Amino acid sequence: MAEVDFTKPVMKLAVLTSGGDSAGMNAVVRAVVKAGILKGCETYVVREGYEGLVRGNSDEAKPEKVAPHRDSSAYYGSFVHNLRFGDGELLRDGTSDHFAGRTLRGRYIVRVGWDDVRGWFAQGGTLIGTARSAAFRTIEGRLSAAQNLIKEGIDAIAVCGGDGSLTGADVFRAEWPKLVAELHKQGRITAEQVQRHGFLKIVGLVGSIDNDMSMTDMTIGAPTALHRICEAIDNIDSTAASHSRAFVVEVMGRNCGWLALMGSVSGGADYILLPERPPQTDSWEDEMCKLIHNHREAGKRKTIVIVAEGAHDANLKPIHADYVKDVLIDRLGLDTRVTTLGHTQRGGRPCAFDRILPTLQGVEAVDALLESTPETPSYMIGVHENKMTRIPLMEAVKMTHEVTEAIKVKDFDRAMALRGPEFREALEGFYATSVLEKEPRLPHHLRMRVAIIHIGAPAGGMNAATRTAVRYCVRQGHKPFAVHNGFPGLLDDNVHQLSWLGVDNWMTRGGSELGTNRKLPDVDLGGVAAKFQQYKFNALILVGGFEAFSALLILENARKHYPAFHIPMVHLPATISNNVPMTDYSLGSDTSLNALVDACDAIKQSASASRDRVFVVEVQGGKCGYLATMGALATGACIVYTPERGMSLDMLRSDVKYLKKRYSLDLKGKSEGRLVIRNEIASEVYSTEFITKMFKEEGGKLFDSRSASLGHTLQGGIPSPLDRARAVRLTLKCMAFIEHHHQLLLKQPGNLKKAPNESAAVITILGSGVKWVPVTEMVEHADTANRRGSEESWIGVVDLVEDLVARKPILEKE
Ligand code: ATP
Repeated sequence: MAEVDFTKPVMKLAVLTSGGDSAGMNAVVRAVVKAGILKGCETYVVREGYEGLVRGNSDEAKPEKVAPHRDSSAYYGSFVHNLRFGDGELLRDGTSDHFAGRTLRGRYIVRVGWDDVRGWFAQGGTLIGTARSAAFRTIEGRLSAAQNLIKEGIDAIAVCGGDGSLTGADVFRAEWPKLVAELHKQGRITAEQVQRHGFLKIVGLVGSIDNDMSMTDMTIGAPTALHRICEAIDNIDSTAASHSRAFVVEVMGRNCGWLALMGSVSGGADYILLPERPPQTDSWEDEMCKLIHNHREAGKRKTIVIVAEGAHDANLKPIHADYVKDVLIDRLGLDTRVTTLGHTQRGGRPCAFDRILPTLQGVEAVDALLESTPETPSYMIGVHENKMTRIPLMEAVKMTHEVTEAIKVKDFDRAMALRGPEFREALEGFYATSVLEKEPRLPHHLRMRVAIIHIGAPAGGMNAATRTAVRYCVRQGHKPFAVHNGFPGLLDDNVHQLSWLGVDNWMTRGGSELGTNRKLPDVDLGGVAAKFQQYKFNALILVGGFEAFSALLILENARKHYPAFHIPMVHLPATISNNVPMTDYSLGSDTSLNALVDACDAIKQSASASRDRVFVVEVQGGKCGYLATMGALATGACIVYTPERGMSLDMLRSDVKYLKKRYSLDLKGKSEGRLVIRNEIASEVYSTEFITKMFKEEGGKLFDSRSASLGHTLQGGIPSPLDRARAVRLTLKCMAFIEHHHQLLLKQPGNLKKAPNESAAVITILGSGVKWVPVTEMVEHADTANRRGSEESWIGVVDLVEDLVARKPILEKE
């Protein structure tokens, strides 16, 4: 963190939430306020979206009088002065009425401090309120909004909302000079104010459950909505199977089918109806019934059809869930029910992704505002794979509207193209994994025998990946073989061909259906090669963590001696530790982060109930601190211990000092519970028990300490929807990879084929792209002794965790 002069704000910054609410909006507000203060800004929230800007603060409502906690003496002009203004509590309590001698009545632009937003990101919806403002759509409304901002001296606003809200933001910024001139002309602002407020800085963050914004992979709130949908589908699934019923599930999405699509992919639905890709035939009912009939004939006991709210046929005639139900009853005689998920999809606690993404984007938004000049466009903060991006706001909004236009004129190919490649891939993934076709697609000579092995510790998504591989294999005509219990299982002939129906329920299953262990192929390389030959494997998919990578390396090296390994071999990273080199992401890490967030929310509640308790939470992760660090970011933990940084006495001394100062700054009777997250092997000496006792001893009257070890609960129960969806996407890429390399091998003359290095590779997500890295190249980036990558892209997040608890300014306080 750079030196900050707190005596003079570099910028007066306000944040507002607008349009429909979404989980994660509170995390945006929290991150913008905290990052703003850290960078020397004076921070405000605007209540009730643009409506709050239009209404502003009435002259009678005097903030000084209504915020008695404002600390205006000792530390004025210091970081500590920014700790609290007391009004966050009013916002949190969701009341604008008189409360403890204070009120927000008549005040829509409210100064907030650091502590006013504490713990906000565990709550759904938006605590500062949102609205659809008709007044802001008028020039008079926007004149008032501009006047109110100028009156408070605000230079910059961060807007979190959907495409409408971001359009409003752009209109407002473009008009700003005109609005200022008009206000001056009408005598509503002074010449000095005109001088000082010639330019308004605006940044947009996309809060929308639909994931309907173009040029970003994900919108804030969409992952949580997907969690709600998958929970519902998982619940419906068991009752559907019990009664052999069909369910038609209607999910939100008027113009965008993302929720329906991802819900279908992750929930293993049978048929899907989307606005962007309506059924291609006029007789879609026949097509749907034929497909479902095939599934029933194959032995499926349940049927799930997902209908997006805005689904229609190729002629734009709306398709309603009730109509689909009638078709299934009339034509197939299925006992069919309709479930409309409605507003349950919006609400609830944000999932881990909806805490991490808005936090990273909120920090990026403040940077974008600080760097903004009259010449730069207003940016929207987006994300591509794992990288935060800045996109000219209106370009993204324009492209989003083009999708709606394309649908209106029935140009569905264009609508799909505008949604981007991931959307198309997800739809292909749905067809590949859900539709049972009568005839295999590939001719006999291109068909393969594919071995699937799980290796290492279980991780959420391993079974979903296997299901995807099996379903794809069946569609193409390949034979998928489960190798049970890893390489020892192979040596014991524990190998079975998997069927389309046999893996039907695997999407939602945690753990490893195949069985897994840590044994590498070098337990008996010759024996493993003999088994590859015996089963005539043409390709291998290894699903697992660092062991899978090590196993692949051993097999690739052994190609020198064993022709049986001259086949395409892929490693799909799946590990809660996320310790595979050169990838930002492994299957299972999202499931695990959600398990951690759930546990920590409960622990924090207990810690806060006792007001002054520090909970030391021990988490898994081996020698990789990913889970501890991202978990700390997602739960607001104040200290994180990782194996990468290690632990030392100096560090612990500084941590105790920080905790003492922090607790001494809490208001009397208002101390909060705090979390410390420690990776299980961050240090061999300073154990969880040791530091818990040390904090207790040193905390004296200020704070108490307890510990909790999350252990294997972090492997998670049911895999998260994101892990399931990514399992489908990445596995299909694995299948395309092995098909491609198999076909190249077939072109080689003679019987003794020679597979090139690059045909033994790991699929990785690095920064903004999915990449194949040959295992021989990967080894150069591995820290084999510590079983992790030698460079870890998330490592900087440790500093962010410390910044977001103001470690440095608090430690520097005298
Ligand atoms: P959701 O995706 O949930 O619908 P949204 O942000 O798209 O969210 P809208 O109702 O379209 O929701 O827009 C929110 C608010 O943004 C509007 O009520 C209005 O105040 C403002 N707004 C939208 N479009 C404009 C515009 N063209 N000019 C000025 N203000 C606008």
